[in-house]
Amino acid sequence: MYDVVIIGAGVTGCASARELSRYKLNICVVEKEEDVCCVTSKANSGIVHSGIDCRPGSLMAEMNLLGNRLMEPFSRELDFEFKRIGSLILCFSEKDLHKLNDLYQQGIENKVPDIRILDKTELRAMEPNISDQAIAAIYAPSSGIVCPFGMNIAMAENAAENGVEFRFDTKIKNIFRTKSGYRLTDENDTVIETRCIVNAAGVYADKFHNMVSSHKIHIVPRRGEYCLLDKMESAVSRTIFQLPDEYGKGVLVTPTVHGNILTGPTADDYEDKDAVNTTADGLEKVNMSALKSVPSLPLRKVITSFSGNRAHEDGHEFIIKEAEDAPCFVDAAGIESPGLTSAPAIGIRVSEIISGLLKPDINPDFKNTRKGILNPKKLSKDEYAALIREKPEYGNIICRCEMISEGEIIDALTRILPAKSMDGVKRRTRAGMGRCQAGFCTPRTIEVIARERQISQLAVTKSGGCSNMVCGYSKESIQEDKK
Ligand SMILES: Cc1cc2nc3c(=O)[nH]c(=O)nc-3n(C[C@H](O)[C@H](O)[C@H](O)COP(=O)(O)OP(=O)(O)OC[C@H]3O[C@@H](n4cnc5c(N)ncnc54)[C@H](O)[C@@H]3O)c2cc1C
Repeated sequence: MYDVVIIGAGVTGCASARELSRYKLNICVVEKEEDVCCVTSKANSGIVHSGIDCRPGSLMAEMNLLGNRLMEPFSRELDFEFKRIGSLILCFSEKDLHKLNDLYQQGIENKVPDIRILDKTELRAMEPNISDQAIAAIYAPSSGIVCPFGMNIAMAENAAENGVEFRFDTKIKNIFRTKSGYRLTDENDTVIETRCIVNAAGVYADKFHNMVSSHKIHIVPRRGEYCLLDKMESAVSRTIFQLPDEYGKGVLVTPTVHGNILTGPTADDYEDKDAVNTTADGLEKVNMSALKSVPSLPLRKVITSFSGNRAHEDGHEFIIKEAEDAPCFVDAAGIESPGLTSAPAIGIRVSEIISGLLKPDINPDFKNTRKGILNPKKLSKDEYAALIREKPEYGNIICRCEMISEGEIIDALTRILPAKSMDGVKRRTRAGMGRCQAGFCTPRTIEVIARERQISQLAVTKSGGCSNMVCGYSKESIQEDKK
């Protein structure tokens, strides 16, 4: 019997697990995918929002502002990439100036620090590549960018180091009330008993909430499509938004923490909660909107496109509380944008609720820091040379675009929550994330995964399940053909 079962190993579930591991609790995170950070938490803008566009007084505003403040100490404690680069919200016409002013006033009401309105001259001095059609902007210096994978994985690893159990490939099918809490069953009819549940199931959080509560909620997947551009200098150095509309923050142009430029997202409601395909129309819209903000953006440099689904609840508000008619069932539902920004604050809120319910003792062994994968790029030349002398695998470059060594890949495959697949390695090290999108390094990464995991190369997958990378050896198939 667990004290707490958390459904979902996205950023919400892992932030909750990490905060709950401060207590002496028997905690398990159940995840239907083969790894952490496989769904919405891996496919977003990676912006640490200032909180300007949240409705004043909402839980979303509270979590956004607190999450933003906590991001810096969290990134230091847990060793993930975060940069406070600031953001601009552009206004393109005189008739929309009142909207810009209203948004600014909302930001003041939300206590977003140091925001101000820039005129055209100040704006162009700050960002020379911004369209000269932009006549004014709100500058929010507290906005930032974060590595979404790095953050999610860091929280999960720190939780695991503090004793939280992770069960992957465990798709929860049903939840039943019992005398002492809840019984969960998965697709293989494995039974998991727990005193409390944290529902952090992203776009599926409504399904689990509605299994135990008569107060129904409804979540629609609101798809956002993106283009990722190759690394470049001087396109923009801050996150560039346009004025938001009723569907959200609109299309942005932003540097990523790794030096690429990201454009997107769209916002379209779909029925299928799992589909994450991009569309020609969606990407065209992204390109056109991005060019409106930054006309010189070199769209030829797009290296990939992707999309993610926001867990949009009908009330457009975070639901973070114990369900009224289901004791010890705690929702972290409707966590759409700014859910990534808010994750540190949501984790704390969930842990306050659960600790209030279970009154656990403090975990005296809680360790609040975690060290990420060794990044040789952060070493001096001499330090790197010494590392290679000691561990030659750090001198063997596997991914040439991102300059990722075999040593880093081995590190990813041998951590407390190890990568198991190509995507797991990619999210932890960036091998395959560069210009050629794994065109060159795929066979060599497969070799390293197979060797370290002691499995056949045929068993190496892209992302678990049946996503095997290769279906046979070509020499063998040629010999078969000859027979
Ligand atoms: C297009 C887009 C742009 C965004 N941009 C930003 C941004 O710039 N800044 C920001 O702050 N936020 C942003 N967000 C929001 C942010 O990405 C999300 O709020 C956050 O990632 C939600 O995390 P989560 O853990 O709640 O959900 P998820 O990451 O979806 O995690 C839920 C997990 O539950 C698991 N699960 C579901 N069903 C089951 C089951 N039956 N059994 C077991 N496990 C299950 C899933 O596999 C998944 O891993 C954006 C979102 C989108 C889609």
